[in-house]
Amino acid sequence: MTSETTTRTVVGVVGAGTMGAGIAHVAAAAGHDTLLLDARDGAAAAAVEQVGRRVRRSVEKGRLDEADAEALLARLRPAADLTDLAGCGLVVEAVVEDPAVKQELLRELAGVVAADTLLATNTSSLSVGAIATALPRPGRVLGLHFFNPAPLMRLVEVVRAPSTDQAAVDAAVALVAAWGKTPVVCADTPGFVVNRVARPYYGEAFRLLADPVGGLDPATVDALLTGAGGFPMGPCALTDLIGQDVNAAVNRAVWEGFDRDPRFTPSVVQDALVAAGTLGRKSGRGFLDHTEGADAPQPATVEPCTGPALRPGRGLDPLARRAGWHDQGEEPGSVEVVPTDGRTAAAVEAALGRPVVVLDAVRDPATATRVGAVASPACPPGALAALAAALAPAGVAVSPLPDVPGLVVARTAAALVAAAEDAVESGVTDRAGVDRAMELGAGHPAGPLAWGRDLGDRWVVGVLDALHAAEPTGRYRVPATLRARAMLAADRVSRGLGIGLVAAGPGHGTVRATVTETWLNGFGIVHGGLVAVLADTALAVACNSHGPLTVGAGLDVVWVSPGRTGDVLVAEARERVRYGAGARNGVYDITVRRDDGSGTGDVVAEVRGRTRSVGPVPAPSPDSPPQEDT
Ligand code: NAD
Repeated sequence: MTSETTTRTVVGVVGAGTMGAGIAHVAAAAGHDTLLLDARDGAAAAAVEQVGRRVRRSVEKGRLDEADAEALLARLRPAADLTDLAGCGLVVEAVVEDPAVKQELLRELAGVVAADTLLATNTSSLSVGAIATALPRPGRVLGLHFFNPAPLMRLVEVVRAPSTDQAAVDAAVALVAAWGKTPVVCADTPGFVVNRVARPYYGEAFRLLADPVGGLDPATVDALLTGAGGFPMGPCALTDLIGQDVNAAVNRAVWEGFDRDPRFTPSVVQDALVAAGTLGRKSGRGFLDHTEGADAPQPATVEPCTGPALRPGRGLDPLARRAGWHDQGEEPGSVEVVPTDGRTAAAVEAALGRPVVVLDAVRDPATATRVGAVASPACPPGALAALAAALAPAGVAVSPLPDVPGLVVARTAAALVAAAEDAVESGVTDRAGVDRAMELGAGHPAGPLAWGRDLGDRWVVGVLDALHAAEPTGRYRVPATLRARAMLAADRVSRGLGIGLVAAGPGHGTVRATVTETWLNGFGIVHGGLVAVLADTALAVACNSHGPLTVGAGLDVVWVSPGRTGDVLVAEARERVRYGAGARNGVYDITVRRDDGSGTGDVVAEVRGRTRSVGPVPAPSPDSPPQEDT
């Protein structure tokens, strides 16, 4: 099959279960003659009938023209045998999630179809490359990951294995787009985009519920992620709908796929539900009770009441304005309400030397209906009740929270942004692709990267670092690019010199700047010290990619040629060795080049940088002025 695929292309679908039936429906609706095959006797015919019922319901509801429905159904037929698929230009397999079964099927198919027939797998958790490896022409094998229900869900992840030809990717993208779906091309890595980036949405909620000290319950966690986080469904209700066993299997597959990376550690709470057979709606009980007549559990909510005087802190203006809650100035004994920066309320109180109420994150202060809050230890009694009274006029309820780092919504937001940044940094897909996939495939109200832009890189990094300080397992590590952007946004010297980030990753960093008049010394030559600042910035990006706070401990600069006005200078730092406690001390090779667009411009300076760890980074005080992210 070539990129000129048209509706004349016959489509084969193997596996007539939930996904296969849906995919065949989509292909036939888009105008393709479609053949549906299943190993079970009668399964393909039953699936065709099921699609027929669905299509006729659409006619009854006025969503589909009768003639179009009949034409669609005339194009969809069950196949009796694999050889019936010989004339197909595309075959999508949606059989059981077993690599041996999929590989064997595709091997047999490859012997039946034409040499240029595109072979796609709908696997959600297996490596497409590993499935393709035993086939004669692996270049035409790729993943087409549809979401359930396929006729309704707009996203299709087009998974490119290292062996997949570009022509096959182009053809699949064109086809998926012609089917009215949104293709997002991604790399063949565990979970692809959605099943990888969505993990913290469940994982952070389950982690909170696993903490017996916190006393949080599923209804409150869900209510905060919907009422303050803006998600259409809370993680507990959503996984009850998906099935705890199904969701746990994806968690485990991604965790195993990433060599048991702590970011994806399966949840003990969820495992316990699965072991007990409480799988969610299908078994009547999961996190929530779904049995007939069961009362919906109510989220923990603070009763509004008069209490100590409260004043809204910086960053709470939109919510305070909406509630008509005015800052009365620093009334004696009044307590400031501050937005969370990830630290516990006790830590903020200790840093400021006065009690505070810390508010959990809110996605949109104009529409939020609930917010979580915690009072610091020295807070006068009744502070949360007074907060509830202050926010009641806006229709915003207050849920009391345990004093844990990152609270509920803030930790979820920061972990989602980190997962999204990490996927981009790892080359899974581009920034727009991640956000589109999460909106269309996971139903998030906005992509995590767009949310991260609203929250600010420094805030996200601060929350992740606070979570890491409480649980230094690597679960909350900050992607190098995110930390580099946050660092540069806060670095006035680099900003003043116009130094911008090019790239960052584990152990490397590249920055660039254009030499202007201000870089020149009295002899019209670039200040060597400023080139050293450029090199030092690259070094800071590279060495802090492993976690804060590592600093330069020396630069040996060898000048090769002088810089000139108008030069674009690029400094690239790469780790040579890492050693010492926590392996955070290191030696870096840094090259400063004139950028001629090829990446091989003249070398201006060669630099050897040494670094040393100086301990945990101090969190920014809530009193420090917010910085614009650049
Ligand atoms: P399913 O169990 O509903 O259907 C699988 C079908 O494949 C069955 O009808 C079975 O008889 C048939 N089958 C098994 N081996 C076969 C073979 N060798 N030849 C022909 N038919 C065979 O499964 P499903 O939920 O539709 O999932 C199918 C695939 O789609 C899996 O790889 C799954 O990971 C993936 N997927 C599922 C979902 C989902 O939400 N269900 C979403 C995305 C992707």
